[in-house]
Amino acid sequence: MLISPTKFPLESEVGFLLRVAHANGLCEPKWLATDATKGLHQRLRICPRCLFEPSAYWFAAWQSGPPICHQHQCWLIDACPDCLKPFSFSTCRLHSCRCGQPYQAHCSVPVDPQIWKSLYVDRVDPDVLMWMGSLSKHGLQGKPGKRASSKQVQEIAEFIELGSAAAVEWPKEFHALLSRIRIPQTSAKIALASSAFPAFAKRIRSIRDPDWRARIEIEFLAYIRNTQGQESALLSRQIRSTSNAKLIAGRHGLSVDRIKRVASQNALPVRVTEGGRKRYVIAPEIEERMIKDLGDEVSTKQASAVLGLHPTRITALLSVQELSALGRGIRLASIRLFKDQILALAAPVDSRSDRWVSLSKALKTCVPRTMTAEFFQAIRTHKIEVKSNPQLAAKTLGDELLIQPDQVAAWLAPRRSVQRCSDLKLDITHVAKTLGVKPDVVRSLVLNGFLTPIESRDRIGLPPVFRTHRMT
Ligand SMILES: [Zn+2]
Ligand SMILES: [Zn+2]
Repeated sequence: MLISPTKFPLESEVGFLLRVAHANGLCEPKWLATDATKGLHQRLRICPRCLFEPSAYWFAAWQSGPPICHQHQCWLIDACPDCLKPFSFSTCRLHSCRCGQPYQAHCSVPVDPQIWKSLYVDRVDPDVLMWMGSLSKHGLQGKPGKRASSKQVQEIAEFIELGSAAAVEWPKEFHALLSRIRIPQTSAKIALASSAFPAFAKRIRSIRDPDWRARIEIEFLAYIRNTQGQESALLSRQIRSTSNAKLIAGRHGLSVDRIKRVASQNALPVRVTEGGRKRYVIAPEIEERMIKDLGDEVSTKQASAVLGLHPTRITALLSVQELSALGRGIRLASIRLFKDQILALAAPVDSRSDRWVSLSKALKTCVPRTMTAEFFQAIRTHKIEVKSNPQLAAKTLGDELLIQPDQVAAWLAPRRSVQRCSDLKLDITHVAKTLGVKPDVVRSLVLNGFLTPIESRDRIGLPPVFRTHRMT
């Protein structure tokens, strides 16, 4: 070697070898390469503007981090725009490509201010920008993770540009990105987030920067939550607002089977639990629609569950049109209206004194079934005072409404005499006992017109009742 220049502190290994080869007039710098020389096979990056100066040398910093020249705020280049060959130790000379085109002839592409801001003002990890950019460009099924590790300047620049667009307008642009890459649903109106964004949780976990990993996780969940009000809702186990058939059935006093029937009609997605049981997953707005679909009709038993009152009380309220009939059942809206009207009469209870008991308990202990309608009328006309227990809000009427048993007793007393006649009603067994004959004898007496029932009941299986004085 005739001339051996000194290596500059910031100079790259490869650049130094190119300079040595140039100084000694070697046509092929690779003659200088030894096995110990590092980076000879990597793709080389240069800043054409840095190399414009005659005393310029190749910077080591070009090879690491985002391919940007800090001094000129431009993108580096890693391939000859003329012969399209990627720059490498074997294709590069100190001042020009092997094809003869000088580096200074190449135009430099300035870095967009938005990208500059993301990288050097907001200091977003370039890997995060690459992650988002690759996702934006290639979607979920285009191996975005693998492509994000690209070493080509043009690809890196594109990913960083797309990624910083999402980062600068965070989180609006990230949500837009998610909408773009989301895998469309085919038949079902709602889908699980895991099928619209396959393996997305795993992809998020691959982000090394903990702050951005958390931010992306939060916004992904927010995105799923936002879809809940839309036609193509997404459901995730991590979103608490989703519900299964059993919870919905409980909330509306409907049978689980009815909910499941509507769920299967709507082709709602079924989730199989760890135990192998099938569960429907139902978003709130779907729930609302389903309840509408189910119609307004509920059974006595369901009404009983919603109001927290015994089914016989429901029947009594229905007979006086406090609740309205619908088909073979009861109109749900009338149940809600009844509940709201009665609760509106109640002030919150001030002290939890023992004198207040729940409505269902008061009914059970003091009020005969035949007095049910009158009892509620007395509440409506303020003859019986009611309070509500705010701690039990949203529970059933029977639980939430509080009554004073003394007051009920006082209200009932004058009515006892009127009530007496109903106490005297006897069924066939009692009549048979009173007359000292078998029940069959009583039945034949009825059939032959010797005894007349005073009340015939709708439901089959319940015996008619008789008034005692007819038998004396
Ligand atoms: Zn430069
Ligand atoms: Zn070239």
